[in-house]
Amino acid sequence: MNNSLLIHTAVPSLLATMDALTLEPDFQIFFKKAAAAVRALLGADGTALILLDDDNQTFEYKLFEGEQQHLLNGFKGLRFSATTGISGRVLTSKTSIFTRDYPNAPDAMEQLIDAGLQSNLVIPLISSDKVLGVLASSWFAHTNSVADISPQLLTLAERIASQIAVACHREKLEAQLRALATIDPLTKLLNRRGILQCVDDSLEKLHRYNRPFALFFIDVDGLKSANDHWGHETGDVLLRDVAQRLSDVVRKGDQLGRLGGDEFLIIAECDASHIDILANRFLQALRIPYGTGRKRGRLSGSIGVVLAPQDGVDEINLLRKADAAMYVAKSQGGDRFQRASVKSELPQETQISIVDVEGALERNELQLWYQPICQLNDLSLVGFEALLRWCKPDGEIISAGPLIQTFESARGDLEFRLGNWVLREAARQMQLWSKNSLAPDIHINISPRHFLHPSFLAELQTLCEQQQGFGAALIIEITETAMLEDLERAKRIMLRCRDLGARMAVDDFGTGYASLTYIKRLPLDMIKIDRSFVAELPVNKVDWDITQGIVSIAHALGLAVVAEGAEAFEQIGSLRELGCDQVQGYFIHRPMPFDDANAWLQHKSLRATTDQYNAKKVSKTTKAIANQEKGNALSRLTTAFSVPQEFVDPRFSVAQRSKNRSA
Ligand code: C2E
Ligand code: MG
Ligand code: MG
Repeated sequence: MNNSLLIHTAVPSLLATMDALTLEPDFQIFFKKAAAAVRALLGADGTALILLDDDNQTFEYKLFEGEQQHLLNGFKGLRFSATTGISGRVLTSKTSIFTRDYPNAPDAMEQLIDAGLQSNLVIPLISSDKVLGVLASSWFAHTNSVADISPQLLTLAERIASQIAVACHREKLEAQLRALATIDPLTKLLNRRGILQCVDDSLEKLHRYNRPFALFFIDVDGLKSANDHWGHETGDVLLRDVAQRLSDVVRKGDQLGRLGGDEFLIIAECDASHIDILANRFLQALRIPYGTGRKRGRLSGSIGVVLAPQDGVDEINLLRKADAAMYVAKSQGGDRFQRASVKSELPQETQISIVDVEGALERNELQLWYQPICQLNDLSLVGFEALLRWCKPDGEIISAGPLIQTFESARGDLEFRLGNWVLREAARQMQLWSKNSLAPDIHINISPRHFLHPSFLAELQTLCEQQQGFGAALIIEITETAMLEDLERAKRIMLRCRDLGARMAVDDFGTGYASLTYIKRLPLDMIKIDRSFVAELPVNKVDWDITQGIVSIAHALGLAVVAEGAEAFEQIGSLRELGCDQVQGYFIHRPMPFDDANAWLQHKSLRATTDQYNAKKVSKTTKAIANQEKGNALSRLTTAFSVPQEFVDPRFSVAQRSKNRSA
């Protein structure tokens, strides 16, 4: 084509074609036609579209149009650094580069030389001053080599390239718009429409593959008062925080979306046995303290849970039931979950008021029950965790959960008084143990507010002074929330506790929001891995990996690791394999009243002594005690291990350890 023909005939008709092409709604068809026009214009064998990814770091080979499809189709999806190749140079210079002798170019790519690329012209695709990628026209070895590209041809090819760039830009914006239709702009989670589409998908999978799933309908408690108090901007920050925390705890494959306002929905493939663990995980993630000083508050969540197919197999029905269950949870004070088909978790009579707790404290109806904590290697006893119980005169026993919930939400000093009662009671009971030369460690849970209370240290100091050995036996368990509420203050208090001889443990680790970075900055001795990570061991690969990660980092920081909630023998095996140090859980023993714990402790140490003399024989007394514990896990333990020293190693007996300690 001579120049005058080109400029007077070809150019206008080509431009007209290009303008018409911009109306083509299908980007692929548009590209094919536009690339064919460039190819014909240049006499090239093909033209490729190579685009930059969103962060401009990588090129991706998207489309190829031309005669050598068979050669270059294989490159579709090829990704390479935005700083390499001729494309990299074009990106930096924002100008077209023609390379006549491609194989000998310094930045030629091996794959393209192997494919027979002889020459190429790479044009930047620029729209709104931004380089989106490049358009690369190629000549292959078999064709007559191309001498050069005239400036007119180049201008024309660049003009078509700029049309392609505009179309690429439009395509990108449209994709973003499509995403926006299902994305919540505030939290970047799926919006109502997006998450409801996922409910439909889950129902489809239920029908086709029989895969049950649960819906967790979450309403954030306390957001309204945060909004009223702090304004909507803070409310938005909190909502984003809620979204982030929930995203952190949902399992891979589960779906999370915001239904609107302060309502979220999680879809999780699971059966009834997993609901408690998941719901507790979400509740824990939602316990968010915010603000400082007097303007402080807390968020939590009320969760309604439905299970498909048990509770329904259509979207409307399931959501209605989940919503209603959520209201039940909310009406009970929030910070709890409610299964739709199950009656309220706490029967009416166990709804506890502050007056109840005050009364129980006054009437001496509160008790500390003790749950053993053992070394994992031999299952010898190391200590007990003191757990609060309300033993009503009619024999009913109320566990710690509802009590804690009530006193933690109470105004005034009930939480502090009750916390101090726990400390004093544990110290008193420990004295009875030390009289018998037994000194198990005592783990005491201290609520966040109590821990940060100005008089906590004074009370602790008095107890440690009054009672020798209490400080050394004491392990203070606090949750991640307590530490994060005021990190520097928490650190100071921890150091003072250490001065008194006490050790510090983070309770329920992994469910809160403390990262290991925080852990590193605090004077801690121990991490207690939450039981939700233990429950599905060894089958749950994610929990396995998380636990493994926590253990290795904790050990690197010199912290001991206790695993909570081991209920089955396989879990003990897994935890050993994962390198945990200590274990607690129903497999060893449920929490028990002081007298039972005392008998159990005596029996454990008696057993250790007996075994020193006769490894294979179990004494009559020990057998008798073991028989008394019908149904409890220790009897399973005795049968599980026929060789006693495997789990009762005298080196680790409490009596021996207390001697070591006093030595
Ligand atoms: P925690 O400190 O993580 O205590 C362990 C909880 O897990 C106890 O529940 C215990 O009974 C339960 N548990 C232990 N092993 C297993 C197991 O194998 N399977 C299952 N399913 N559960 C197991 P509990 O006694 O109801 O206490 C609940 C929470 O209440 C405690 O969790 C602790 O955070 C809090 N708490 C208990 N006593 C006190 C107290 O005196 N003061 C304060 N501030 N909080 C307390
Ligand atoms: Mg605890
Ligand atoms: Mg715990």
